[in-house]
Formats: sequence, structure tokens, C-alpha cells
Amino acid sequence: MENTMDKITIKKLEIYANHGVLKEERELGQKFLVTAQMYLDTRKAGSNDTLEDTIDYGKICFRIQRFLTEHTYKLIETAAEELAKELLYTVPRLRALDIEIEKPWAPIGLPLETVSITIHRGWHQSFIALGSNMGDRHAYMKHGVRALNQSKDFRVKSVSSFLETRPYGMKKQDNFLNGCMLVETLLTPEELLEFLQGVEHSVNRVREGKWGPRTLDLDIIFYDNLIMDTANLKIPHMDMHNRDFVLFPLCQIAPNYSHPVLHKTVSMLAEELQGEGTIIKKETVQE
Ligand code: AMP
Repeated sequence: MENTMDKITIKKLEIYANHGVLKEERELGQKFLVTAQMYLDTRKAGSNDTLEDTIDYGKICFRIQRFLTEHTYKLIETAAEELAKELLYTVPRLRALDIEIEKPWAPIGLPLETVSITIHRGWHQSFIALGSNMGDRHAYMKHGVRALNQSKDFRVKSVSSFLETRPYGMKKQDNFLNGCMLVETLLTPEELLEFLQGVEHSVNRVREGKWGPRTLDLDIIFYDNLIMDTANLKIPHMDMHNRDFVLFPLCQIAPNYSHPVLHKTVSMLAEELQGEGTIIKKETVQE
């Protein structure tokens, strides 16, 4: 997506700071050059001619300088990673960025022009399905939303209502509550899965087989337009198009989102569903 986005570039900002594996580097300091390419939409600022509608590159330069002088890291990899996070967490309108940190005085005992690291980091969109059929289902669902909302690596953008549904797969168990949420996240798909599994475990999810009862189930439905198929992660979720309890809540928050493999929108997939539905109540259900 960044290829088609507008970009503000800060080139070779010079900063004297104390990063390095050697003790001398951390004590004496040296010169670093920072190049930051910031991806955003500048259309509004372009038509309004208003600084508030864009990223103030002057302020960002001072923030980069402050961040790199107030922290000390052994690796420029870590300096770049932490700096990227700091900017993505706090700069409104910043969707993604490339950060290059150069170390022209790297003390390796040989002449070199420079050595550098470049990283790309940014916000991704993901749809997450929630389900619960044990205990205080509504509280578990809310807990799932809150756990993501409380992490700096997420921004919860919208949450569907929670539907009362009959069990799918293993039928002899209590009814479920199901819902979907749209989040923005800085995590990779693998990190996202790990985070969601951590949230499930934090509410003592009891696993009773693949389709069995659960306090909280969190599944990744989409992640940008990514298509991936590894041993423990399939995106888009491999069975989402057969599940009315995923498609109906998803329809509430993103009816026009296009499935990257089936090339049909969520609302088309919902309309095409065959067979017996699971939905008992479509509105938000409170315990
Ligand atoms: P369940 O919690 O019963 O829905 O299944 C969880 C298992 O499915 C985990 O072991 C995951 O590794 C795997 N899995 C594969 N694709 C996904 C996905 N898109 N979202 C969540 N879990 C997935």
C-alpha cells in the first residue's frame, strides 16, 4: 500500500549519540545519520495549505534527536526499531515509515564510508473474530476487545454487535456469542496470532477439542490483503466463508471488504451462504 501513498522524507539528519556494542562508543558517542521516509495521505494538507493536516517534519527531527540522545542501545537495529515504534505510536496520520540509521564513524579498524540499517514498519489492518460459550460470555468478549485496546500495538477501529449463535461443528455444547472487530496493528501475522493466543490463555481458555467449548476464541480473519498458508497460520481464515457467525458480524463493520482469494465482498459471501444458519439473535446480547 505504501507504494501508492504520499511520503515525507527527512534525509541524513545528523545526531551525536551514544549507541554501540563497544563501551567506548557508549561513553564517548559518535555521529549518526538518520533518514526517515514517512508514509501518509497529504491530500487534505495539499488542498488546505494547513500544517495541522500533515506531519510537521521540523518537530519530527527534534523528536528523533531527543529519542536517540535520551536512549542508549548497543545495536542500531534496536535504535531503529524503538524509534520507529515511538513515532508510529504517537504521530497522528503516520501510516508507515522507513528508517535508516547510518554510522559513518563505525570503529571497525578499517576505512569505510558508512554502515547502516534500514527498516520498514507500519500499521496493518486486521479483522478478528471473537467467540465465547462458557461462563460470562459477554464479559469474555469485552475482555478480548479491551486486551487489544490496551496494547500500544493496536488501535481498535470498530466492533460489531455480539450475536447469539448455535454451536457449529461439535453441536452438543452451549450457545455462543460471536462478533468481529477491525483493528490496526503494528504486529506481524505471527506476532498477532501469538498475542491473541496469550489473551485466550489469560482468560483460562479450556480447550476441549477442536470444536469444543471455550471461554474466548480469537481468530484472524483477514490481515491487509495478505494470503498466507503455513502450518499454524492460514490467512484469510480458511473456513470464514462458510460461517454465518463470522460473515454476519463482519458485514456490519466491513460489508464491502473483498476476500483476497475468493474475490468476493463480505456481503456477497454472506448472501451466498448455503445450509442451516447458526444465528439465533442478531443484536448485541448482554448476559
Ligand atoms: P481454534 O482456536 O480452535 O480456532 O484454532 C486455533 C489453531 O488454529 C491454532 O493452533 C492456530 O495456529 C491455527 N490457525 C490457523 N490459522 C488461523 C487463523 N487465521 N487465526 C487463528 N488461528 C489460526
